[in-house]
Amino acid sequence: MTELLALQHVGMMFHVRTHFFRSVGVVALRDVSISLIRGETLSLVGESGSGKTTLARICLRLLEPTTGRVIFNGMDLTGAKESDLKQFRRNAQGIFQDPFSSLDPFMNVAQIVEEPLLIHHLKNAKARRELVHWALEEVKLQPAKEFASKYPHMLSGGQRQRVAIARAVVLQPEMVVADEPVSMIDASSKAEILTLLRELQDRHSTSFIYITHDIATARHFSHRIAVMYLGRIVETGPTREVIENPLHPYTRALLEAVPLPDPANRFKQRAVVVGEPPSPVHPPPGCQFHPRCSYAIAGKCELLQPRLTEVTQGHLVECHLWPDTN
Ligand code: SF4
Repeated sequence: MTELLALQHVGMMFHVRTHFFRSVGVVALRDVSISLIRGETLSLVGESGSGKTTLARICLRLLEPTTGRVIFNGMDLTGAKESDLKQFRRNAQGIFQDPFSSLDPFMNVAQIVEEPLLIHHLKNAKARRELVHWALEEVKLQPAKEFASKYPHMLSGGQRQRVAIARAVVLQPEMVVADEPVSMIDASSKAEILTLLRELQDRHSTSFIYITHDIATARHFSHRIAVMYLGRIVETGPTREVIENPLHPYTRALLEAVPLPDPANRFKQRAVVVGEPPSPVHPPPGCQFHPRCSYAIAGKCELLQPRLTEVTQGHLVECHLWPDTN
């Protein structure tokens, strides 16, 4: 099991202008360390504002983190110039949420899928055409010749997302980051797209980072899950472990929101989540989840930030309910 991508103590702060001369710092990520093993799918799960999309953009090096390091294939990408990222750009592709705005309406499907090949100066025209048809067949847009000449407005949401996937896989990358790829398409196409991503992963051993707010889809698609809350990883572990034995009250609350067989036995009460997440501009001290946590330990959780600790092999949690073994 070799590591393809490693994020080490990554932090990200944005400056948001509030008045003409004033801005405030918004911390989107705090001390995030994760790794992606070759051939695995890692799901990043969390509600809106948890920092998962920022993390996805850092994994694709579309954003430079404020602190920490990003290592891909043994190469430290921190501070790397765009000219040094050619090989990385070819090997790391993204699929984004909105299949309606992510495709150029003036390009036909063949041109859209061919674009990455042109950017990376690959092959002659005949070889490029063959690769485009191969990619369209991979995503089950068949007959490929017929779909190649269509324009985005002639396609359904599910078909557009398949075009976006074809564009991502045509370079046969080692890593694909899929940011909420099924959140804007109809329910009937969702399962098909997830099955397609899974098949692609099985066939090509591509490593996937799957970003979602929906832990139910992560369950079907991933080998490991990392749960994010307010810019931190609060629990991570093998998918089955996290689903059947969630350790963090927030994970438990996410699971209670979806119809799954009752997973855990540790919690004697429902993991009630109160209100909205606190503002990232003024995050609370101590455990960031304490204002919403029905298990909060008075005098501890609001003062002390828990540390990520390994409870069983590969299953880590950041919560005072578990003894800190660090
Ligand atoms: Fe809840 Fe305390 Fe655990 Fe935070 S550390 S999740 S407040 S029990």
